[in-house]
Amino acid sequence: MPAVRRFVALSAFLAAAAPAGAQMALPLKHAPARTQTAITPADLMTRLYLYSDDSMMGRLAGSEYNLKATAYIASEVKRFGLQPAGDSGGFFQNVPLVKRQLDASASLAVDGAALRPWDDFVPRDPVVATRSFDGAQVVYAGVLGDSTQLTGEQAAGKFIVLGVRRGPNLPPTAQMNRGALLAKYRGAAGIAVVALETFPPQAINFFRQPQTILKDGMPSDTTTLPVYVYVNASGARTLLGAAMDSVRPGTPGKTVHGSVVFSETPAPARNVVAILPGRDPTLRGEYVAIGAHNDHVGFDHDAVDHDSIRAYNDAVRKLALASPTQRVTPDQVLQIHVNVDSLHRLHPVRRDSIYNGADDDGSGTTAVLEIAQAFAGAKVKPKRSLLFVFHTGEELGLFGSQYYTDHPTVPRDSIVAQLNMDMVGRGRSDDENGGGPGYIQLIGTRRLSTELGDLIETVNKARKQPFTFDYQYDASGHPEQYYCRSDHYMYARYGIPIAFFTTGNHRDYHQVTDEPEYIDYDKLAHVAQFVYDVASAVANLDHRVVVDKPKPDPHGNCVQ
Ligand SMILES: [Zn+2]
Repeated sequence: MPAVRRFVALSAFLAAAAPAGAQMALPLKHAPARTQTAITPADLMTRLYLYSDDSMMGRLAGSEYNLKATAYIASEVKRFGLQPAGDSGGFFQNVPLVKRQLDASASLAVDGAALRPWDDFVPRDPVVATRSFDGAQVVYAGVLGDSTQLTGEQAAGKFIVLGVRRGPNLPPTAQMNRGALLAKYRGAAGIAVVALETFPPQAINFFRQPQTILKDGMPSDTTTLPVYVYVNASGARTLLGAAMDSVRPGTPGKTVHGSVVFSETPAPARNVVAILPGRDPTLRGEYVAIGAHNDHVGFDHDAVDHDSIRAYNDAVRKLALASPTQRVTPDQVLQIHVNVDSLHRLHPVRRDSIYNGADDDGSGTTAVLEIAQAFAGAKVKPKRSLLFVFHTGEELGLFGSQYYTDHPTVPRDSIVAQLNMDMVGRGRSDDENGGGPGYIQLIGTRRLSTELGDLIETVNKARKQPFTFDYQYDASGHPEQYYCRSDHYMYARYGIPIAFFTTGNHRDYHQVTDEPEYIDYDKLAHVAQFVYDVASAVANLDHRVVVDKPKPDPHGNCVQ
């Protein structure tokens, strides 16, 4: 599941806790052994230690490591004898991602004096085209929020410099809504917000990272927007030709020259798509889709101390579980002290920089592989066909599932339901309140089809060890937004009934510590077998599950 960015507290802790030492490189001792047809904890462990090994370097979509990870998946579904359902008869569906970064030619100058990119000015990438500002008149627009601030009309065609009031209760970042400013000053030639000093270095680093987007040939957006940059006080003075506090709103400054464009390079990424044809000549034209995401967030250049990070996040998680309705405050976080020395008496320092994503979503990916192998080896195949889709680019914005459902390789309306697994290998009592062997969270199971939700309950009741369903994250408007935050939503938006299975959050979420050694393999096998049974039930129904709820707008915003 894509994460919410947080810069401050963790970075301070990282800097403090990362003594020098050996890198944490686990040898690839789990070579792909023959796995049996049945869904077993041992097979899941074999697969997951391989799929989330350091050598996969965190499987970031758009990197060679995502290609490596998807090659493993494709070789397995081929080995099971499934039908390829990707591009041109293969198992891969290429997803057109591109990496966007500031072009080396970018410049911002007045009177020949150039502002330095990333030092004096930091551009933000609007992803759509920006109009030229070369030769535009700089104008001081006043202070954000003041009544004297220039209007959109007054700023039309101008390169405006906008001040931001500072103060303890007025953190500048809280005031600056880039979307709102771009809307207000849509007609300007450029917008320079004087707030560069307010961003911590990690934020500038984040802005500097190439941004990967999905470029899928949908009619390209012809909108052009003004360039949007953050500048520091000296940059503002250069643009205005005077100190900001010596000029009034509307005062003209210098003539600005240059261009700020972002160049694009293709970023390799692919979904893996395979089909198990159904046994019923009529119903095999309908599909039950089963999915997970094959990517994760990659690796960092700086290593950290695995165990002290884990101890630290464990403390944060305990605080979160102790008061689930409140966010953990920065003050609480600052109170956390980890006795690193005692930790290192237990473990020699393990430096770690790779986001292995064992649970996110190695657990889902290996569960789908086990389910596919079990169905492929089953004597009696289900009536309807099964469509296995391993989505890429989920962490970047649900790109693989967006592309697959916009460009499905089977008729979209022949997909009767989609079962999505994302993070299904944890959910112990110290991971989630109420966690344990039978704990699972269900999201979206009745959002389009009451029948699907009921059917899942029925399948569960028939089990020797029924699960305990936690539906709290399915609540309308729930702040965690799980209904909108994983691949199932890309199917639901087209009116396809979905069920999202997850064992929930934990201290290793989007951390370098999300390792295969912390996975509950019995639980994972239990979840995979459950999803197998749900898929069987849906695939063998004498009718397709009934959609009895309104269908959303496929291109509208998701509503939790
Ligand atoms: Zn995920």
